[in-house]
Amino acid sequence: MTEIIEGVYFIAGVDDMIPDSHVYVIGEPSSQDLSIIDAGLMGKGNYKLQTIKKTGIKVEDIKRIIMTHIHLDHIGCLNEIREKLPWVELWVHDQEAESLEQGDERTVYGMEMFRNMCQVQYGLKDGDFTFEVNKKLQGGESLEIGGTVWEVLHIPGHSPGGIALYHRTKRALIPGDVVYADYAIGRFDLHGADASELKKSLRHLSELEVDILLPGHNRVARDLPEGYLEETAKQWEPYLT
Ligand SMILES: [Zn+2]
Ligand SMILES: [Zn+2]
Repeated sequence: MTEIIEGVYFIAGVDDMIPDSHVYVIGEPSSQDLSIIDAGLMGKGNYKLQTIKKTGIKVEDIKRIIMTHIHLDHIGCLNEIREKLPWVELWVHDQEAESLEQGDERTVYGMEMFRNMCQVQYGLKDGDFTFEVNKKLQGGESLEIGGTVWEVLHIPGHSPGGIALYHRTKRALIPGDVVYADYAIGRFDLHGADASELKKSLRHLSELEVDILLPGHNRVARDLPEGYLEETAKQWEPYLT
């Protein structure tokens, strides 16, 4: 686990047959009020928690898990983490919270063929991703957590209730799978995805001043070139109709 900036720690996903999402831990350790952003793939919960422990952070200080979105590669090990940290709250955008509470796993798996494959491969069954959500995010709120302030942006398109977390003064953005380093963006062919919404979300993000990009996969970028998000949005616009 590496400290990206004060109060933001990074745990790299370890990809399997399926990608494993990165995890970020946000909050000042002295606040004893830390948040985990995303969980990761099935079987990766222990690795994530062990990595946190190794840096001296007390897992007792982790108070909630905030999901950027509920795709399987982000939520797959949520049950494993909650088993170890049963007190943690779950915060999800309203639109995906509803799916989790109703046991509607279409967004989690993305496509039916993938559901069957994963259930066989990982011994999952229908209903494994049914959760009560403690806080339903709307987008537009400011979260004061662990001595840091993060703005929530609703950025649908890759998934219906995808969110980004933005730290305005540190110019840091956690966009889930909506945009990556190296001018890449998230896929827009899965259940609940919408190319034109993704186009709007990329435009929305390009209005922010961002130096540090902390995506759900691949490289973390600590020193983005000026106008990076705007350039990425522009490059992808012709494909997002
Ligand atoms: Zn992902
Ligand atoms: Zn995703």
